[in-house]
Amino acid sequence: MTSRALFVDTHCHLDAARFDPDRDEVLARAWDAGVCGIVIPAVGPRDWNALLEWPAKDPRLQIGLGIHPQLLPEIDEREDDLHLERLDALLARNVACAVGECGLDGPSIPGAPLERQLRVLRRHLELAVKHDLPVLMHCLRAHPALVALFCDPTVPLPRRGVLMHSYSGGVDFAKFYVQRGCYFSFAGPVTFQEARKPIAALRAIPLDRLLVETDAPDQAPHPFRGARSEPAYVAHVAAGMAAALGIDLETLARRTTETARSLFQRPFGTDSL
Ligand SMILES: [Zn+2]
Repeated sequence: MTSRALFVDTHCHLDAARFDPDRDEVLARAWDAGVCGIVIPAVGPRDWNALLEWPAKDPRLQIGLGIHPQLLPEIDEREDDLHLERLDALLARNVACAVGECGLDGPSIPGAPLERQLRVLRRHLELAVKHDLPVLMHCLRAHPALVALFCDPTVPLPRRGVLMHSYSGGVDFAKFYVQRGCYFSFAGPVTFQEARKPIAALRAIPLDRLLVETDAPDQAPHPFRGARSEPAYVAHVAAGMAAALGIDLETLARRTTETARSLFQRPFGTDSL
């Protein structure tokens, strides 16, 4: 068969309720579009158990386990430790290929002040070190706080790396994160006409640190902007990234898929389908 571009969608909330009506069709379209793997980051304790079974059913579907900062207001702060202990136990089962989604979401989520977000994130980083896993990092409007955390000598950085998902921090922060060994993925906004900031950041990042993602059901790329996103659209994100970098889509697909396989230590699917 002729070789075709294969993609790993490294951040897709396929377990979201918005996919309940047609998840099988969404997946069929993804495989048709050349997606060979999807990383599904659980966002909170409620979702962990259900996701644990997915990789065994289809090894193209791999999972991360963590607590998204936007979920913290729904969780009683006095139970943070309990959830993190359970997370530790689940990670010990060796099913998840990453810790996360976790991170920082601005200095002022009601019910989750930055101090609490930082405490919970620090525990995720410690668990990633303990279980030797990479981290799926969400960081929105909080890059100064994340940089300060990374510079704190008491905070361990996972050997396997940190993936800055849907990176929005611009060039200067990108240079710092590159120095710290971080990886970066971009979602739909990189395809938007006005996407100057993500494109400038993208061009400042070495190709071997780049990955692709959809962040579905959110952040659909052009020409689906505003609609529900889905993993099949990762080809559109990748095309936008390739155009911005001035390389061909095949090269971007091959390199990002290689990086995803080595970062997550999963083979995902192969070309011989
Ligand atoms: Zn996410």
